[in-house]
Amino acid sequence: MSALWIDHDPTPLQREQKIERETHKLEKRLCRLMGQAIVEYNMIEEGDRVMVCMSGGKDSYAMLDILQKMQQRAPVNFELIAVNLDQKQPGFPAHILPDYLAKTGVPFHIENQDTYSIVKDKVAPGKTMCSLCSRLRRGILYRVADELGATKIALGHHRDDILQTFFLNMFFGGKLKGMPPKLVSDDGKHIVIRPLARVAEKDLVRWAEQRQFPIIPCTLCGSQDNLQRKQVGAMLRDWERKHPGRVESMFSALQNVVPSHLADGTHYDFKGLTATGVASEDGDKAFDPPEFVAAASRPGLQVIQI
Ligand code: SF4
Repeated sequence: MSALWIDHDPTPLQREQKIERETHKLEKRLCRLMGQAIVEYNMIEEGDRVMVCMSGGKDSYAMLDILQKMQQRAPVNFELIAVNLDQKQPGFPAHILPDYLAKTGVPFHIENQDTYSIVKDKVAPGKTMCSLCSRLRRGILYRVADELGATKIALGHHRDDILQTFFLNMFFGGKLKGMPPKLVSDDGKHIVIRPLARVAEKDLVRWAEQRQFPIIPCTLCGSQDNLQRKQVGAMLRDWERKHPGRVESMFSALQNVVPSHLADGTHYDFKGLTATGVASEDGDKAFDPPEFVAAASRPGLQVIQI
């Protein structure tokens, strides 16, 4: 006689406990990944005043939220100041961010600048407005950072944004170039950081749902979404679905560059290369097919089956 197994549906209490456990794990992961990025790139130092750029999208809400948690645990003291630039796009719900920020207790500043009218006036109908719009926004945010005495400017780009940019540059710009976790701004005056550089977008989506951030839609300006970016995003998601771990491996590759095995003579002196005369186990076996060493020894990576 065979045993009869009855699968009971979880009770509401069990379901609630499961959600609680998963939320706790997600929070720990977000804090760990942000903490790693901060340490690895020395993003935040003692006494820093970090201007956190808030667009009203899920990423900026999550960045501020996790930075506030980090602030309580970090071994260094630093200040946060949230900044939103209200560009006067039609329908922008101006009260949402101030109401939310007031509740979080974080100091904040709303900068009101009607860049929308300028862009509408200067850009011919049907042409993309993003390039002028972002140039204006950048200039304003740099000025605001100066006025607020900010020592760092934090942007909410995450791991998947970085990889998308990397592939867009490769596909359309013929360059191996991503989006750095830390950089000097184009005016040479500011340090810009991306504390979410190691965080996967899907975790930010879940965190935003969990925390019920009051998200402001990003289509208010009426500009078309960047189609190429969307396609590259879909390509990465598809790869990840078919080969779990591939996106993390690609991000790790950005941190493990081997200039001698690329082809850029400005980063490796191919012209001046001479034989050393000394055999090395780790040397290049140029005649053999390449071996792909499993990256399991590196944190956060899985073995890749090619
Ligand atoms: S999508 Fe709209 S708000 Fe964003 S950069 Fe383009 S024009 Fe500006």
